[in-house]
Amino acid sequence: MSIGAFTAATDTGRKRRRNEDAYVVEPPLFAVADGMGGAQAGEVASKLAAAALSDTDAGSLSGTERVTSLFQEANRRVYERSATDPSVSGMGTTMTVALVEGAEVVIGHVGDSRAYLLRGGSFAQLTDDHSLVAELMKSGKLSPEEAETHPQRAVITRALGTDPDVDVDAFAVRAEPGDVFLICSDGLTTMVDDDEILGLLERHREDLPRAVKALVAAANRHGGEDNITVVAFEVAADDPPPDDPGGDTVAMPALGSDLEDTIVEAPPPAVDAADAKLADPPTARLRLALTMIGLLALAALLLLWGLLR
Ligand code: MN
Repeated sequence: MSIGAFTAATDTGRKRRRNEDAYVVEPPLFAVADGMGGAQAGEVASKLAAAALSDTDAGSLSGTERVTSLFQEANRRVYERSATDPSVSGMGTTMTVALVEGAEVVIGHVGDSRAYLLRGGSFAQLTDDHSLVAELMKSGKLSPEEAETHPQRAVITRALGTDPDVDVDAFAVRAEPGDVFLICSDGLTTMVDDDEILGLLERHREDLPRAVKALVAAANRHGGEDNITVVAFEVAADDPPPDDPGGDTVAMPALGSDLEDTIVEAPPPAVDAADAKLADPPTARLRLALTMIGLLALAALLLLWGLLR
């Protein structure tokens, strides 16, 4: 299993002044973080969490353990900054991660950003929102219709960076060729319902960057009340070449063949030049020796001619 097309789009929306969302598109790792806090704190939180994903070495861990350890490192960094820098005190962020590992996609999740899976014609939300309205719905105190307009629908019950420890939802999904995974912030899902997301994804299925732009445009058309971030990638049918360790990304096979071309073309001139350099000195020495012999012979003849006169 390899990663096919992948893409991301983010937009401030039409009501907010700043974009406090962040995303990571570093195959095989994809993520969305939606920061919250006063002034610029939300931006600081989501960017710190995203950076922790990019530069943390999870060692030999794999699967859900690897993803959970990435969340814990991200949580530690946001929490420490929040505890030591009064200007960002109390900040936090959501984070939803997808890590492709062989035939599995490992999902990690905290907050109300979401991961979806489009497989064939079915579209399923993989993550549970850690939000007040989701909990009220689960306990039967709120209908899905009421949840959509609930005044506290933006309140989340679990965030990254607000406590020394974080409880992470982590699980693996067995991937199939043709699967499309979507990760998004609530700025998409509070503005665009699942049916419309599915419709736009299917319409632009063969052009994921266009699909993602269409989703952002739809969220803005419906009000754009929050920052909108969408990350999408597809699982491709073909296996990477066995001798290409980076073959699980789109870019690597192309880079590999470029290198191959360079290696094949470069050596012949280098060998020719080396041969020429090696061949030249003996020829020159031989020519010099022959010239010296000729001159000595000429000198001997002249000397002999002078003696005989
Ligand atoms: Mn948001």
